[in-house]
Amino acid sequence: MKRRVVLKSFAAASILPFIPSCSQVVGEAATPITPLNKPRNEWKGLVSPRAYQILFEEATERPESSNLLYEEREGTYLCAACYLPLFESAHKYESWTGWPSFTQPIAGHVATKVDFKMIWPRTEYHCARCGGHQGHVFKDGPPPRGERWCNNGYALKFVPAEEALPLLRS
Ligand SMILES: [Zn+2]
Repeated sequence: MKRRVVLKSFAAASILPFIPSCSQVVGEAATPITPLNKPRNEWKGLVSPRAYQILFEEATERPESSNLLYEEREGTYLCAACYLPLFESAHKYESWTGWPSFTQPIAGHVATKVDFKMIWPRTEYHCARCGGHQGHVFKDGPPPRGERWCNNGYALKFVPAEEALPLLRS
């Protein structure tokens, strides 16, 4: 309980870099990711207000509100804040939850932490580079991994396979 209070007060200090405490990187990146210690209020001018609320205030978009739910082209899903690639289209699937869902992230590009917002513990995940909140991972996904990476569409930017990926934002 005490740690929860500390995390909350940390989150309230918008001048601090947004790197969630106790986070654990999932898998190993081909090229190691250097965390970006950018004060969260500096992201305000770079992302939409709706994306900011999700990425840096851990809001959740209403189900079926993102166009990415219906995106079926081949391509890459980037963090909408810093442009780090987080998911490949090959791992997207229809979960019928109303949120874009994936069976796995790109190794080493997301990190998880446990949150207690719903009283019971859930595994939150975020961009391993800028710390921007993306969604939650559940253990009711399809085989073989059995994982459902349930993502806010507004926290992602889709780049079709035929387009070059943008440079990472710093
Ligand atoms: Zn990011």
